[in-house]
Formats: sequence, structure tokens, C-alpha cells
Amino acid sequence: MQFATKVLHAGVHPDPETGAIMTPIYQTSTYVQRSPGDHDGYEYSRTHNPTRTQLQDNLAALENGNWGLCFSSGMGAIDTIAKLLKPGDEVISTNDLYGGSYRIFTKVFENYGIKFHFTDLGNAENFAKLINPNTKMVWMETPTNPMLTIIDIEAITKVAKANNILSVVDNTFASPYLQNPLDLGADLVMHSVTKYINGHSDVVMGAVVVRDELLYEKLAFLQNSCGAVPGPQDCFLVLRGIKTLHLRMERHCENGRKIAEFLRSHPKVDKVYWPGFTDHANHDIAKKQMKDFGGMMSFTLKSDSIADAHKFLSNTHLFSLAESLGGVESLCGHPASMTHASIPREERLKSGLVDSLIRLSVGIEDVNDLIEDINNAL
Ligand SMILES: *Cc1c(COP(=O)(O)O)cnc(C)c1O
Repeated sequence: MQFATKVLHAGVHPDPETGAIMTPIYQTSTYVQRSPGDHDGYEYSRTHNPTRTQLQDNLAALENGNWGLCFSSGMGAIDTIAKLLKPGDEVISTNDLYGGSYRIFTKVFENYGIKFHFTDLGNAENFAKLINPNTKMVWMETPTNPMLTIIDIEAITKVAKANNILSVVDNTFASPYLQNPLDLGADLVMHSVTKYINGHSDVVMGAVVVRDELLYEKLAFLQNSCGAVPGPQDCFLVLRGIKTLHLRMERHCENGRKIAEFLRSHPKVDKVYWPGFTDHANHDIAKKQMKDFGGMMSFTLKSDSIADAHKFLSNTHLFSLAESLGGVESLCGHPASMTHASIPREERLKSGLVDSLIRLSVGIEDVNDLIEDINNAL
């Protein structure tokens, strides 16, 4: 089944009782059993819920995996994955990681005796240098947030496999439409469903997809034991949003390309970070592992002043100043004072996250209106 068919049909089926084509919202905490233990697989909604099951099955299909698990947020998914680790284990990750991931790793899991190393995984050779017998996981994010660095998933997972290291890809920025990490050798792919997958800025949710049954069972055990599960209403909203994922992504990519090119030609703009440019450091890898280049980009101002960046952000009308990304509406943000405020300045400067860096999540509006909005604000 092709992607555009899967978003509509994979894992979902009409309601057996009524024929309702949309998955019903099973707003229930518990399920009546015929006699103790005699039931149809549903006992309690933290463990299983039919609306969630259909969403999980759909997401598993979109990522070419066998098992999907949904969580109450992207962070809930990350938290659960990290709980596969034990004290003494080490994780290798990339420099310009999503701020929340950096925070949970360094401020929460380091307290439980897990060690994290951050390096530029955009250069795959850096990975092997940090491996030691305690290395149990490699955590990738590609394209990265907000520098749009591209990591060669296949190159990293190959080395990981040879060293018995679990490889995880946070695929939020690409969405399953642009990139399928499991096909490139990753063991786990996770999403902040909040972003492109739901796409309508009205749900917070996370997901993990795997191929390996044992890994699935460990994660399902953790999901049920720790309890960061989404409610059925949110699962319904995501099932609705997913039906247009391919159409939305096509427009995000098309608009993204035009805006990246416009920004690059503007005299006040210094650098534009977007993997679709042929001179982007890892453009060839992006071309190999992604279907297109997406609607996420960052740019810096020639003045590199925080004040000028803030001025731009308060002068746009169509680009709303907000955290988050991947929704149908265009958003802009200032990573240094918003999403990445928890990362020390020296740390962020190392990866090029300078004071004037502005991140855009290009929506699906008319691209000429968006360009006019940016032009006026600049
Ligand atoms: C938003 C985001 C997360 C966290 O997801 P939430 O749904 O906000 O908890 C993780 N990784 C990336 C890349 C994100 O953009």
C-alpha cells in the first residue's frame, strides 16, 4: 500500500457495530468482562483503548514498522524510551538536540546514573569515537532543531548495530511522509505527534514505532507501568489529522522551497539553513534519505542582534510567534529565547545557534502572502 492510501486506510476499520467509517471515540476507562479474564483484549484504558489501538496501528504502518505506541506527549514517549536504560548506561546524541530532549537527558536521567554525550552527529565519524562498552543507545534527530543539520541515519545505525547499540531517531521534523528511519536501520522511531502528524495545532501527543516484538513488549510494559497515555478524544483528532498528512506535507515542502530561496536573496538575511540547498553541508544525504526537504528552516540576520530578531518576530502578521511547529498555520520563533533557552549560550553557539537565529515553520497558506509577510517584517 502506498503512503497516501495508508494514511487513510492502514490500521483503521469501520465500527463493527454501526459501520461508522470514522473510528469512534471510546471514552471509557474500563470494559465489562463476561467472567474474570474473559474479554476481547480490553480491560482498562491505561493499558489499551480501541481508539488508541487504531491510531497506533496506523502509525506503525506509516513508519513501516510492526508496532506503534502512543503517549500523552512527545516527551512522554522520550521518557519511556529512556527508561529502557539502566544506571551506568551511556547514550550518544547530537549537539543541537530539541531543547526538551536535552533537558530530560541532562536534568532528569543523569540523576538516575545514565550518562549522555553530545557531539556533531552530522559528521558520522564522531559517533564511533565516543563508543565504549557502556554505550547502549544512540539518539538521533534529523533534520535537527533548529539548525537543520542532516544526520546520515544509515551510516550511524550500521555502526550502532555492530556495537549492539540501540538506535533511536526522533523523526518529528521530517514526519513519516519524508523519511522512514526503520527502513534505514533504526531500531526505534519516535515522534512528537503534536507537530506534523496531527498538524492542526490542537493536540499534544507522542508516538514510538518499532519492528522488533521484544522491544515492543518492553515499551508496552513501560507505557502501562508509567502511564503517560493519551486520551481517546486526542487519538480521534490525530486519526482525523493524519488523513491529509501527505497533502499537507506536499504543500509544506513546496512553500518551504520558495521561502528558503526568497530569504537567501534578501539583503538583510545572512545565513539560511534548509537542507534543500545544494550547498547545505549534508544535502546529498538529505536527498538520499528524505523524499523532499520540508517546511522547516532557520535564518540569521546580518546584524546578528537579538533586538532586530525580536523586531522581526513582532512585525509578522501571518507568521505567528509561537513555540511548536508542523501545523497548517505558519509559525516563527526565536530558539535562543524560546525552545532552546534551557541550553547554555556557549553550548548553543558551538552549533551555530546565534542570537539572531529565527526559526520558521512554514504552513500551507498561499506562499505569496507568506513571502510578503516576511518581506514587510524584514
Ligand atoms: C516538540 C518536540 C518534541 C517534544 O514533543 P511534545 O509533544 O512537545 O512533548 C520532541 N522532539 C522534537 C524534535 C520536537 O519538535
